[in-house]
Amino acid sequence: MKTGIIGAGISGLSAALALARRGHAVEVFQREDTVGGLIATFDFAGTRIEHFYHFLCATDEGYFALCRELGLSDRIRFAPAPTGFYYDGRTYPFSTPLDLLRFSPLPPSQRVRFGVFALEARWRKEWVQLDEMAAKPWLIDRLGKRAYEVIWEPLLALKFGDFHDRISAAWVWHRLHRVARSKGKMGYLEGGTALLLDTLTDRLNAMGVTIHPSRPVKRIQCHGGRVTGLSFDGAEDFACDRVVSTVPMQVLADLLPETEGAYAARLRRIDYIGVVCLLFKLKKPVSRNFWLNVHDPRVPFNGIIEYTNLNPLTRDDGHIAYVPYYVDTKHPLYHMADDEIFHTSWRAMKIIAPHLTDDDLVAHHVARAPFAQAICPVDFLKMIPDQTAPVAGLHLLDSIFLYPEDRTQSGHITQANALAERLGDGS
Ligand SMILES: Cc1cc2nc3c(=O)[nH]c(=O)nc-3n(C[C@H](O)[C@H](O)[C@H](O)COP(=O)(O)OP(=O)(O)OC[C@H]3O[C@@H](n4cnc5c(N)ncnc54)[C@H](O)[C@@H]3O)c2cc1C
Repeated sequence: MKTGIIGAGISGLSAALALARRGHAVEVFQREDTVGGLIATFDFAGTRIEHFYHFLCATDEGYFALCRELGLSDRIRFAPAPTGFYYDGRTYPFSTPLDLLRFSPLPPSQRVRFGVFALEARWRKEWVQLDEMAAKPWLIDRLGKRAYEVIWEPLLALKFGDFHDRISAAWVWHRLHRVARSKGKMGYLEGGTALLLDTLTDRLNAMGVTIHPSRPVKRIQCHGGRVTGLSFDGAEDFACDRVVSTVPMQVLADLLPETEGAYAARLRRIDYIGVVCLLFKLKKPVSRNFWLNVHDPRVPFNGIIEYTNLNPLTRDDGHIAYVPYYVDTKHPLYHMADDEIFHTSWRAMKIIAPHLTDDDLVAHHVARAPFAQAICPVDFLKMIPDQTAPVAGLHLLDSIFLYPEDRTQSGHITQANALAERLGDGS
């Protein structure tokens, strides 16, 4: 039995590893000329780094297991990840319960309610009821209107842009739960995802898995209700009995044959939000925080992730900060010229950090991803399709199957391992 995997992001590569380990014959087809997808890296003025920021939490078991298998466990580091909140011209520390109690933009009673709420989220396990509720009324009810407007609205907008009002309470609960269990420390892999991807692809090559770069799948071929292969533009078809798709539901819908129209329509109901992510390389730090939430009418973004305040890299790498804008791909911002986004963001950055001057800017870069995050509205559980498609032999891997968990590298690795387990040993 042969398996074709669509996509060489962390899902596709870890699925290939898990299946090859069980004796399956696997080939991976990747649209780009490089592997990695959302965790791919590039040369940023002499620093090899991801287009998008990535950190680990203490609960990221799937990631740790993969590192163990690849002999990379000793490269995982955990460090304090100071969090701040820039509110109306002033930065407040926002890492510890005491910081929260001192957060003066909120009245004292709401600070206490917030602390109790965060503790409850840490220990809560039941979440299905929360899927039926929108996060906004739930948070207002539990924390008060001002706490929602000051803290939660910008946090949700940071991740879901204009869709933030639609998000389910279950998603918000799990996000708090995961971060709270990491106890103020976040992790990273020394050497970054470049090291992970290089080691993983070397291992796959050694196991006989072929990865085909620059080979976008055009169509999943089916016959008699079964998968029979993959087709491409300008390359020979690949005959197989099983396909593992790791592409977003909307992309997968376009790869299905016309006979699967009803199923494709179901997949298209899942919406995603895009991201435009700015990277700055600076001579001086923006602040001492790894994560700075931002709520200020003069600033067009909701957060700065100053990666080098978690992973110091080397002296030559300077200080690296990410500024994400999560935005619908139909929004003009998604298509705005790189220079315009850069100038707007840099001006705002200097409002937050007036000690920075143009002379401190070493380099900047703009990255975009159209399917950065699935939007998880109320009743999302009912929208999630079955992970095994109605076409025999087609299996789906995507962040939506992690719900209410946020999309994480670790979650994707665990999901890929679980699929290989379900499929059993290859013949
Ligand atoms: C801004 C941002 C910040 C993040 N922060 C974190 C974090 O801190 N911690 C964390 O754990 N995770 C984080 N994530 C999430 C993490 O990056 C993703 O969940 C994970 O990388 C998804 O991997 P994937 O393989 O499922 O999908 P992808 O990485 O999207 O891979 C899918 C691949 O399929 C390819 N493809 C598409 N169409 C075709 C086709 N027709 N034929 C062949 N190939 C195709 C794509 O090019 C892509 O390479 C973040 C993501 C973003 C965007």
